[in-house]
Amino acid sequence: MDVQEVIRLLGEISLVDDRVVKTDEAEQKAQVRMWAVALAEVPLDFAGEAVGRHYAESAWPIMPKDITAKWRDTVRDRLARQVGTFEPNHHPEIDPDDQYGNAYVAALRSGRTAVMTGAEQPHELPELVGRVGRTVDVAPATDGYLAAKNALFPKANRPAAAPELAVHCPACGSAANRPCQSVQRGRVLRGTHGSRRDAYEAQQGAAA
Ligand SMILES: [Zn+2]
Repeated sequence: MDVQEVIRLLGEISLVDDRVVKTDEAEQKAQVRMWAVALAEVPLDFAGEAVGRHYAESAWPIMPKDITAKWRDTVRDRLARQVGTFEPNHHPEIDPDDQYGNAYVAALRSGRTAVMTGAEQPHELPELVGRVGRTVDVAPATDGYLAAKNALFPKANRPAAAPELAVHCPACGSAANRPCQSVQRGRVLRGTHGSRRDAYEAQQGAAA
């Protein structure tokens, strides 16, 4: 939920409970900012529903934690029901020569995000419901691994990887040889952060 959506939500809340929304302008600004941070991961529709459920069961003014607690329960429940099978060949954007590259990570992540937010229903197999598929760890690629993989799967005309990938990114914290990620949501980026390129150039300058 972004700031505009928080303002809409607070507007709706003020219709049912005039104790929640601050009346002083400066306080209201601070409140919007605070709610936007607390509810950044929560979709507006879900928050609206959570507000309704809160007032159905409580006489207290709603607070962000009442919404995030309901959201966490929902996410936990959805991910627990997700079996987590992932078939790279169902994703045409994944390069079979580079199965564990950016496209793979991006497809895996977007699938899980869709389940988390409810855009997609969890894929469940009743006999596997349990702890399966809760965590998906992508092992960090080491220099040795990448060299071995490149030797095993040479690819003609493979575009040269951005040279700055050789250094750790100071903007998003990605380790060397890992793609940059968006700072807010951790999405894999196609390009790299400017400060990573600067860091690489500085390192080259120092070496020369
Ligand atoms: Zn970066």
